[in-house]
Amino acid sequence: MSKAKPRKRHQLRPTTIEPHRTAAAGSVIIRQGDTHVLCTASIASEVPRWLLDPQTGEPKRGWVTAEYNMMPGSTPDRKRRGPDSRGTEIQRLIGRVLRAAVDLDKMPGVAITCDCDVMLADGGTRTASITGAFVALSQAIAAARKAGLIKGNPIKGPVAAVSVGVVDGQIYTDLDYPLDVRAEVDMNVAMNHQGQFIEVQGTGEQGVFSREQLDELLDAATKGIRQLMKVQRKALS
Ligand code: UDP
Repeated sequence: MSKAKPRKRHQLRPTTIEPHRTAAAGSVIIRQGDTHVLCTASIASEVPRWLLDPQTGEPKRGWVTAEYNMMPGSTPDRKRRGPDSRGTEIQRLIGRVLRAAVDLDKMPGVAITCDCDVMLADGGTRTASITGAFVALSQAIAAARKAGLIKGNPIKGPVAAVSVGVVDGQIYTDLDYPLDVRAEVDMNVAMNHQGQFIEVQGTGEQGVFSREQLDELLDAATKGIRQLMKVQRKALS
């Protein structure tokens, strides 16, 4: 289903992050080739009870969480609505990575939910969700600061993610679905702005991979993520 023009192995698919009007405090669409995800970030008016100090009843810290969903029309075979184990795993990944971007102690009593709804799926939906959701989260935090809900800046720095893989023995960055199904190694990498890893999920889908290939995959991911952070900066400027 990919209509992307032939690109170099380490070239990202054309990527944009644009504002999209919803009622949420943060709201963007990230388009990475034919993978399109609507990412919203909503500020909760009530924080979960477990965020409260049991002694004082006051919130000691804030919370950031994520939900991920593929819309029914996002794939050629209609995706059934409702939770599944893949989606549950992916949304936990997105939440962990986003929490690495913020100091929760600096946003007491504020809970932000980042919803990632895949409108069009062509590989790399979880990584695009992370990259887009960071921008939506930043918008929501800016709105919360403006409203006086958060004092100071809880954002430590951007986080973004990309997929890399080995196809026909060669390293590729930002796999679309046709590459993804052929990949001998499939890896999702999330990093912060200091080039530190937050999460690496790698699988030898059709075999094994060497330490040398692992290093090459991580180098490719690092370069791809640097590019994605430029797109994030532009969206937030
Ligand atoms: N996919 C699909 N239906 C599904 C799950 C996945 O069509 O129920 C396709 C979709 O294009 C997705 C790709 O397979 O982007 C790769 O899925 P994977 O589970 O590896 O996650 P992703 O790469 O999207 O993070």
